[in-house]
Amino acid sequence: RFITFEGVDGAGKSTHLAWFVEALRQRGIEVVLTREPGGTPLGEQLRELVLHQPMHMDTEAMLMFAGRVEHIEQVIKPALERGAWVVSDRFSDASFAYQGGGRGMDITRLSALEDWACRGFQPELTLLFDLPVEVAKLRLADAREPDKFEREQSGFFQRVRDAYLQRARQQPQRFAIIDAAQSQEQVRAQLKAVFDQL
Ligand code: C5P
Repeated sequence: RFITFEGVDGAGKSTHLAWFVEALRQRGIEVVLTREPGGTPLGEQLRELVLHQPMHMDTEAMLMFAGRVEHIEQVIKPALERGAWVVSDRFSDASFAYQGGGRGMDITRLSALEDWACRGFQPELTLLFDLPVEVAKLRLADAREPDKFEREQSGFFQRVRDAYLQRARQQPQRFAIIDAAQSQEQVRAQLKAVFDQL
């Protein structure tokens, strides 16, 4: 099964993702934990470029999807074929949120890129860590050295959040929205409920 974690920077998704994967492994399930941008040697090189190099938003979007093709073909599909579960820290939804919402790239063009690169391949479950952008910014402030995206203004993150929520509304059967503004324990409890359903 293919599961993705999404959310604005500072939502705490990576921390909770680690718990989720560990819980699956304790059930004896083989889990491949991976991420985007990244996931393959080429993908990690592309990650370095897109996170630190200024570029046209179309270039950025195409590099994200280029890395995604490698990720799907080299890592995700082979793992699924041998019966492993794959959990990815971000996937296509992030392109709609960041390049679409954040940068304002036309959604129909992004959808065309998605169709072309992913050919209908999608996660079966996406956990969206949602929280107000002001809270996310505060959490990020002293957490780590910001990358190109994390230096963006609040308006950018508001648009990213809105785009994620819009996508979740469009595909409700695939999304589970986690209220990430709550305490660690409460977020963990929400995650556990999703886990138990799985
Ligand atoms: O999740 P993580 O923090 O590793 O993501 C790295 C950065 O890439 C984040 O700042 C995120 O905002 C950005 N990103 C993006 N477009 C994507 C995926 C990630 O701008 N499609």
